[in-house]
Amino acid sequence: MKRHLFVLAALALLLPAAGLNAQNSPEQLHRAIETKQRIQQRVSSQLGSQTEPESGSAHGGHAATTAHGATAAPGHAVSAGHPDEENADIWARLLSGNRRFVSGRTRMRGVVAQRAALVGGQHPDAIVLACADSRVGPELLFDQSLGDLFVVRTAGNIVDPIVLGSMEYAVEHLHARLIVVLGHGSCGAVKAACSNDETPSQNLVALVQEIRPTVQKLMSCFEGAELVDRGVRANARHSAQQIVANSVILRDAVEKGHLKIVTAYYDLSTGEVRQID
Ligand SMILES: [Zn+2]
Repeated sequence: MKRHLFVLAALALLLPAAGLNAQNSPEQLHRAIETKQRIQQRVSSQLGSQTEPESGSAHGGHAATTAHGATAAPGHAVSAGHPDEENADIWARLLSGNRRFVSGRTRMRGVVAQRAALVGGQHPDAIVLACADSRVGPELLFDQSLGDLFVVRTAGNIVDPIVLGSMEYAVEHLHARLIVVLGHGSCGAVKAACSNDETPSQNLVALVQEIRPTVQKLMSCFEGAELVDRGVRANARHSAQQIVANSVILRDAVEKGHLKIVTAYYDLSTGEVRQID
């Protein structure tokens, strides 16, 4: 712990050299962040790794500094490499958390300390667009905690301007580097889009109509559970495409390597999250 405090104190002295301030343009901020990462790497190499063991340790509050100057929960690797590698690290961290969730060996957390540590601000490095279904809470199934994930949820994990605006905020202002679009088994919204049943309100019609064109292509070839399952995967891929197609900010971030988008499927029965190819 003393070593962490010393690292943070050293970074506090060195950060002005990285040129970070609130008036920087996004480009300047990205350059400054990369400079800061190099400074972190030098400090880390001199003082030893800041990364806590990946499993078997209880969260005792945020202690390590992330790429964005945020405080990261112990157990979160501090990345200082190429942006693509860093994005991959974030996804690997979430999959590692999912394996703990599947096994039932989730981390113990000092939520009171974490809550206090986050009062001054949030620095989540991952965004999760998930269905509103009560069985797919992203923090639970990725075994993450307060401040770790910027979560946007809509029935059927559909994308609209409000969803895109939320994600743009997280990327532009919180410097999130990964978006996970998470579909799940037996999704009611996808089931509704696969059905010809009458939809009882205009709002529900609007929801179903967002998904129907995607699943309609599958309806001539598949039916029942297989149709829904394939529809969930196709709908997640469609949402990922919508993110890139309809947001200049997010598309630019992807093209520059500052943001990665992953589509994934959550299995209700096993608890497992798998990336969709
Ligand atoms: Zn759903």
